[in-house]
Amino acid sequence: MTDTPASLEQIASCVAGYDPNALPVAQAQEFIARLVPRVDAVESVAIRSALGRVLARDVVSTIDVPAHDNSAMDGYALRGTDLRADAPTTLPVAGTGFAGARFDADVPPGHCVRIMTGAVMPAGLDTVVPQEFTRADGDRVTIPPGVVRAGDNRRLKGEDLACGEVALAAGRRLTPADLGLLASLGRAEVPVWRRLRVAFFSTGDELRSIGEPLDAGCVYDSNRYTVWGMLQRLGVELIDMGVVRDEPAALETAFRAAAASADAVITSGGVSVGEADHTKQVMKRLGDVLFWRIAMRPGRPMAIGRIAVDGGRGAILFGLPGNPVAVMVTFYAFVRDALLQMMGAAPQPLPLLRAASTEAMRKKPGRTEYQRGIVTRAAGGGWQVAITGSQGSGILRSMSQANGLVVLHHGQGDVAAGELVDVAPFDGLV
Ligand code: AMP
Ligand code: MG
Repeated sequence: MTDTPASLEQIASCVAGYDPNALPVAQAQEFIARLVPRVDAVESVAIRSALGRVLARDVVSTIDVPAHDNSAMDGYALRGTDLRADAPTTLPVAGTGFAGARFDADVPPGHCVRIMTGAVMPAGLDTVVPQEFTRADGDRVTIPPGVVRAGDNRRLKGEDLACGEVALAAGRRLTPADLGLLASLGRAEVPVWRRLRVAFFSTGDELRSIGEPLDAGCVYDSNRYTVWGMLQRLGVELIDMGVVRDEPAALETAFRAAAASADAVITSGGVSVGEADHTKQVMKRLGDVLFWRIAMRPGRPMAIGRIAVDGGRGAILFGLPGNPVAVMVTFYAFVRDALLQMMGAAPQPLPLLRAASTEAMRKKPGRTEYQRGIVTRAAGGGWQVAITGSQGSGILRSMSQANGLVVLHHGQGDVAAGELVDVAPFDGLV
């Protein structure tokens, strides 16, 4: 990580309308975007290892793709000027062009060449008539009028990528199509930002890990699994630190180890106002941390800042609330984009669907609400969304049943049945 980082106070002063006790989602997002640094090390990886990685430099094409004008069809290549407009055209066939081979012979005027898909266009010929439109008779072929225009069915040299053109820009998270594009350029390796390291743990004395008996008043730690899953989808390096007991020494050890080994630390639990446990105290003591109350539901409390130990550069802390749904929603609203920014990815807002709400929803202006929804195809076309039963922030089933989050924006009020609302589909999200 480079540059001298701005203090949290400086960042807050740059965010218009900053109010830590009633922070609109957009302001919290802006704050976090100003806070998080990008990894600064680049490594070269083979293209099959580059899927989902973030490109660190522009990839410029060193060749034309395709390298020659070539045929898009099996058929006959000819000069467009030889086609008759209102009567069949009959041309002698001067030879055959195969894919992967050059066709060096001159084609005399008024002649055509039998050609295969991908074969290089013989010099002077600019048009391909698909075979199914033609009638062959010995070494002559007849083309009815009007089935092709001059220039049809020919792929031009460099039409996919021209030599010198940026094929993929830095900041791109590489997709399967991108891997193919790199291969079409003959690239074996690409420069990508190093993987982001993210440590995470759950806090709370009531938490038990799988395999432990569930004592009275206890719950199994589920957050570590949802967080693990969401981080896995982002392609970061994971450091799972388990459940940390609510004891200052245990918390301090965990935070120190996390800050020493990771770029970002994600915790859940212990950040609410009036929280009796030690998590907040230890965060405050070890780092430069703010405790926000965000104007959103679910997910109101959140800690954000840096934890630096032993003169290290420190790690970004995302102290998420404890409730299982709130963890996922705050991850979606804040952590995902922040981690992508740290990974070097160019900002890429997630697409929102517009779907008709199947029912009326109460909504107070002045906060952002995220309802768990099931999006389906509406009878008359378009999308509709139904809410998944109880929306309590502890009810993880509502999230599991849903296939998207209905986003009721900050200024929005009550929603009538049938009204269009924004939905963030989970696919590609978490
Ligand atoms: P807290 O924010 O620590 O007050 O936790 C809020 C609620 O979330 C409490 O009911 C906790 O038991 C629950 N909770 C906190 N952490 C977890 C976790 N890792 N897994 C499941 N539930 C949790
Ligand atoms: Mg707690």
